[in-house]
Amino acid sequence: MILSDYRKIYAFKGENMRATKIEWVTNPDGTRGDTWNPIIGCRNNCPYCYARKIATRFTGTKMYPNGFSPTFFPERLRIPYKKKKPCMFFVCSMGEMFGNPYPWLTQVFKVIEETPQHTFVILTKNIIDSEIWFLNQTLACYPNVWFGVSVDGIYTPRIYGGSGKLKPDYYLWLKHAISVLRKVKRSGRIGKAIVSFEPLLAPIPSNALSDLAEFCDWFIIGAQTNPNRQPGKQWVESIVKIARVCNIPVFIKDNLEWPEKIQQLPT
Ligand code: SF4
Repeated sequence: MILSDYRKIYAFKGENMRATKIEWVTNPDGTRGDTWNPIIGCRNNCPYCYARKIATRFTGTKMYPNGFSPTFFPERLRIPYKKKKPCMFFVCSMGEMFGNPYPWLTQVFKVIEETPQHTFVILTKNIIDSEIWFLNQTLACYPNVWFGVSVDGIYTPRIYGGSGKLKPDYYLWLKHAISVLRKVKRSGRIGKAIVSFEPLLAPIPSNALSDLAEFCDWFIIGAQTNPNRQPGKQWVESIVKIARVCNIPVFIKDNLEWPEKIQQLPT
C-alpha cells in the first residue's frame, strides 16, 4: 500500500468501514467496495509503507493503540455481517493478515466463511505463514477469497529474513511466493489468485512473469507516490504483454502515469 491510498481510506472515527477510493476494490454492482481491518500492523519494514507512517504517528489513539505493532480488533469482526448486498472487502489494508496468531486468523476466516455473499481480497508478503494457514492449518475452502502476493521487485520482507534491498534474497522470496500462490490456488482453497505489483520498483524477471501467468487470475499494477516514483515503461509493458497473451485481466492504477486506461476486473 502506498501513500495516496492511505490518505484516501484513513479515518479516525467509526469502525473503520467506509467505501474506499482504492480503484480496484469494486463491488459486483460497480460501486466502490470497502476496506476491512480486523487486524492492523505489520512487522515487515518496507520503506514506502504509509500505513506504518500513519500508525506510528497516531500511536496510542483508539485506532492505533499499539502503533504499527500487529493488533487485533475483535469488535470489527461484525462489520461484514452488516452488509447484505454483495461487497468486495480489501482485508487488512493497514497491515498484514498473515504472520499473526492463529486464533486471530481463525476468527477472521470464520467471518469470511459465514458471509459467502462477499468477496475478500487478501494480499500478503508473509508467504510462509499463508502457506501454513491455507494448506495445513485450515481444512476449509474459501471460494470468496481472492488471495495474492504483493510484489515490488526489490524489498525482501523482514519476516522472511530480509533486511532491505538485498536482491538475491528478493529473488529467492519471489520464487517461493510464486510456488506458494500456485499451490494455494491449485489446492482449491481460494477463489482467485492475484498479484499486486504495487509499488512496482524494479523489473520483474520474465521467467517469474511466465510462471505467474500460468495460474493467476488478476494483475494489479501501481506506482509509488509521495515521493512519486514511476516504474520503467518496459517493466509495465512486460507485465501487460504477458497478461494479454495469457488472457489475464490487468488493472493499472491511476497513480501510474500510463497512456492507456487499462482497468480490467476478473469475471
Ligand atoms: S508488507 Fe505491507 S503493510 Fe507490511 S510494511 Fe510492507 S507495505 Fe507495509
